Amino acid sequence: MHLPDLKTELAGIIKDLKARLAFEETFGVEVISLNAQNNRVRSTTTITQKNDMPKTSAPQTESNDKKPLTTRPKEGKAKLLEELKNETLVCHKCPLGETRTNLVFGAGNPMASLMFVGEAPGRDEDLQGEPFVGRAGQLLTKIIEAIDMKRSDVYIANILKCRPPGNRNPLTDEIALCIPVLTKQIDIIKPKVLCAMGTFAAQTLLNTKEPIGFLRGKFHDYKGIPTMATFHPAYLLRNPGEKAKVWEDMKKIRDLLKELNNK
Ligand code: SF4
Repeated sequence: MHLPDLKTELAGIIKDLKARLAFEETFGVEVISLNAQNNRVRSTTTITQKNDMPKTSAPQTESNDKKPLTTRPKEGKAKLLEELKNETLVCHKCPLGETRTNLVFGAGNPMASLMFVGEAPGRDEDLQGEPFVGRAGQLLTKIIEAIDMKRSDVYIANILKCRPPGNRNPLTDEIALCIPVLTKQIDIIKPKVLCAMGTFAAQTLLNTKEPIGFLRGKFHDYKGIPTMATFHPAYLLRNPGEKAKVWEDMKKIRDLLKELNNK
């Protein structure tokens, strides 16, 4: 290997290690073990179609064929999102409209190349009307920063826009009534990559009943958009031993975004 190549390789490894350490610090860990498998980023990414096992080494999904011919400017997307938000704020299609304190529409960059989708607002989100503002939200912010992005770069929304009482699981009827709003959000933003966090987000977007433990770690297809499934930050707070898996998932997102941005 030539010296310039070696320098580039080393710089990449050091950058990965720094990002991994920043990610680990979110859990109060100050020392990480050096594991070649965990610390080196793969240069290719695998896309998995629904009900299928990984089989391609490049992001050659239907997304390439279905990409919009035109993109809306930021102002146009922001306006469309604002109009959709105003329509949704008065929604009472399901009983959660009666029990919510605030509807949590979603927040972030209308031009986001990466969009996160969670399950439903929790107590803090219900009180503030903003997604992912509690402890899980703080962890999500750290996760985003660990892949060299800022929270203001991405868009964050949930499957349900209103909090299920006591943070119970979303009901099938509630999801069916609420999902059109998220579908429209994704259609307006048109992110290059989606990240479904947790069982309900992943199963709903990917239209499957497969467990999150099976779905995570690979890209699936949501209407032509590569969609990574991973654990929800709230689950990660309860099960910090799973953080290495989420870190691996996030690195795949980071690498795919790099590939797509370089095209
Ligand atoms: S959860 Fe969704 S469908 Fe139900 S009231 Fe809220 S916005 Fe409407």
